[in-house]
Amino acid sequence: MIYLHNATIFSPHGPLEHGALTLSEDKITAVGDSDQLICPPGFESVDTMGLMIVPGFVDLQINGGFGKDFTSDPGSIWQVGKQLPYYGVTSFLPTIISAPFETYLQAQKVLKNGPPEGYHGARVLGLHFEGPFINPEKRGAHDPEKICPPDPELYNSWSLASFVRLVTLAPELPGAITAIENLVRNGVVVSAGHSNASLSQAQAGFDAGISYGTHLFNAMPPLDHRQPGLAGALLSDSRLIAGMIVDGIHIHPRMVDLAWRMLGENRTSMVTDAMAALGMPAGQYQLGEHTVHVDSSSARLKDGKLAGSLLSLDQALQNLIAFTGCSLKEALLTVTEVPAHLLKMDHSLGSLASGAKADFVLLTAELHVAQVWIGGRNVLPAPG
Ligand code: ZN
Repeated sequence: MIYLHNATIFSPHGPLEHGALTLSEDKITAVGDSDQLICPPGFESVDTMGLMIVPGFVDLQINGGFGKDFTSDPGSIWQVGKQLPYYGVTSFLPTIISAPFETYLQAQKVLKNGPPEGYHGARVLGLHFEGPFINPEKRGAHDPEKICPPDPELYNSWSLASFVRLVTLAPELPGAITAIENLVRNGVVVSAGHSNASLSQAQAGFDAGISYGTHLFNAMPPLDHRQPGLAGALLSDSRLIAGMIVDGIHIHPRMVDLAWRMLGENRTSMVTDAMAALGMPAGQYQLGEHTVHVDSSSARLKDGKLAGSLLSLDQALQNLIAFTGCSLKEALLTVTEVPAHLLKMDHSLGSLASGAKADFVLLTAELHVAQVWIGGRNVLPAPG
């Protein structure tokens, strides 16, 4: 039982200066003004020294980090998860790009077996399978030999219960509509991406149950005034949430601003799409079966195609504010409440409400991560 005070708390009701919150075991039990919410007897009192307390960040798309690539080594999920809190990430969806069938099974097994004894890293909310049902013409860094049309043999075994949380596919492929309907019925969130869909093909996919768009503008035709395509469909349909990689490289800052004006804080979900080189020096790293060349700012295949990012979610937060002029409160929603809502977990994740999981980040005024708490436990050393 812990009482944190002397903080600005980003609760669902807005920033609360001189805020306090109480935790019991792994849950938040109360949030309020520290004049009214005083330290209950028997609680350990923690003075945050004026830091901000914000909900923990959720990354819906990450391929690896710290030298590890989930597609070539699904067993590395927990090792990466242990280090993601350094960037404020408290939950994530390890992402497997188009791969041999066995890789999907292997990744599902890693989640089924659960974390190693004593694991205190970021929560793994399930897998994001990005592919293999994508359009070969928009494959990006995916291996063309691993891409295939929607195959019931494969996707029929994918469900929330078998640890598959999100699937990215191209809605224009033959059999895609049936695949979308089946996956949604099995509790999987389906996303449109790596796609050449026209406006009407995208709309048909949305009507079948697609609720998300994978890395808006990347691996889809550009926004065209005569052919709005998937990008136009995602921007204009208020049912959809769109993922964006806000590293200033995958999308021009001005286009981020343009998209932000359409999507706003309730339909934007910032993802990193980070790859093995996240948190590592420049050099050569794996993404699936490809060797990727990494310099100080980007990760690319030999032909110059982008192959994942080096972005961290705390940096994305700063970038979004810089590119759009939005408030911290708005930017925070895109990495907390919005992804939690997409995954239908808003009751337990993504906000600092009484009853929610005690997953939160202590930020400095410069938005640096000072402490990260997961399930009511401080998993990073206190600022020194
Ligand atoms: Zn991709």
